[in-house]
Amino acid sequence: MTIERIIKKFSDNNPGTDTAILEKAFIFADTAHAGQLRKNGEPYIQHPLHTAYILAEIRADLPTVVAGILHDVPEDTERTIEEIEQEFGPEVASLVSGVTKLSKIKYRGIERYRENLKKMFLAMTSDLRVIFIKFCDRLNNLRTLESLPPEKKRRIAEETLEIYAPIAGLLGIGRLKWQMEDLCFKYLYPEKFHELEYEYEVEKKVERQRFFHKVKSILVPKLEEANIKNYEIEARFKHLYSIYKKMQEKDRKFNEIYDVFALRLIVPTIDDCYKVLGVIHTIWRPKTNRFKDYIAVPKPNGYRSLHTTIFGPEGKPTEFQIRTREMHEESIYGIAAHWYYKSKSERNYQQPKWVNEIIDIQKEITTTSEFVKNIKMDIFRDRIFVFSPRGDVFELPEKATPIDFAYAVHGNVGNKAAGVIINDKLGKLDQELKNGDLVEVIVEKNRQYPNKDWLKFVKTKRARDQIKAHAKKSTLDKMKRFIPGINK
Ligand code: MN
Repeated sequence: MTIERIIKKFSDNNPGTDTAILEKAFIFADTAHAGQLRKNGEPYIQHPLHTAYILAEIRADLPTVVAGILHDVPEDTERTIEEIEQEFGPEVASLVSGVTKLSKIKYRGIERYRENLKKMFLAMTSDLRVIFIKFCDRLNNLRTLESLPPEKKRRIAEETLEIYAPIAGLLGIGRLKWQMEDLCFKYLYPEKFHELEYEYEVEKKVERQRFFHKVKSILVPKLEEANIKNYEIEARFKHLYSIYKKMQEKDRKFNEIYDVFALRLIVPTIDDCYKVLGVIHTIWRPKTNRFKDYIAVPKPNGYRSLHTTIFGPEGKPTEFQIRTREMHEESIYGIAAHWYYKSKSERNYQQPKWVNEIIDIQKEITTTSEFVKNIKMDIFRDRIFVFSPRGDVFELPEKATPIDFAYAVHGNVGNKAAGVIINDKLGKLDQELKNGDLVEVIVEKNRQYPNKDWLKFVKTKRARDQIKAHAKKSTLDKMKRFIPGINK
């Protein structure tokens, strides 16, 4: 990957933008990472460059692409976030530090952390662009996973499949979701993956191409008769993981998954979508219950299209997706496309409720940005998420203190708490914790009881109950010392 390719990709989507800052970020990161190699032997700078390129592809804005180039600098080099702020300004610096914070989260495969992790992803980033950078970072890491030890490979793949891919789906970024899923599928179930890949890419490829041309040769004259212009027909690539999932869910063999033959028609207007549907249904008999109007009733993540399966040439079930160019881009770029198209005509399709909230806040903040900017996720406003030094995530009420955290970790950590380090600085036991804080409780081994005064500031029931219980016990113990014979 080269910086020139990134600049070209960015400029294609944003003609006329001054991209000097991209070149500057490249020189800064290249110098900072000089001499470092990735596990696969490549110069380290290749990783942030690939990350930035994927960001440019999904149409991230300029500060986000710059932050993509710089995203591993504070963690892995001598240069600091303060220097980044000096050189590139507060917006880029805040994106980079958001990514650094997210990278402290570790997946431990324990069920109860999963939900927390998902929420945290959303909550601790006050700016959705941080998540986009993290996604692209992860995608490039997945592509270069080969050289890691098997255990680590597995952990990263599982974490991606459990957390990253579903969130990409929530945000409607189909492109990232599918790419991540197929890469993880390959690492987690290599035999299944290669089996399917062979069947799909080798055995069926020629047949698929022949069939595609046959459908086209029948359809194109009819579309012209119906006076449909400026359309595109493409054979749809099916994602192996989605075929695999379908086989699992329905307990079917590869040949029985009927929508492997899939085509997509992209037309100029919504009106054309329904016209094309009419044409298709006139030529071939539709399969019952396989028609879905996601234009009238979009999917929860905002996805719009018409879907129909018909008995095509040779009686083969064939799936069509019919959509406008705008719908197509939305299905690939998700929320990013929303901003890209913002200047165009007002649309009234259904986005998920929380996405609408983001959009409303976004509108209040700025009307000039082409991308998600300064989004405050106030849907989780009453909760905060903090980390233990091991990277575990704890969900606490707002204004919770280190003592609440200590009791959330373990009763004994609470009882023996003597001090606290918050984000590598000495803190106070009664101070309010903030979202994303890294909290380390210092315990005094010989201490037996918690301090009753803590009751004045703790926020969680768990902490309060335990402090009270021990306060009773300590009074009893003191009495025992003075009044021999008393027992509980
Ligand atoms: Mn990285």
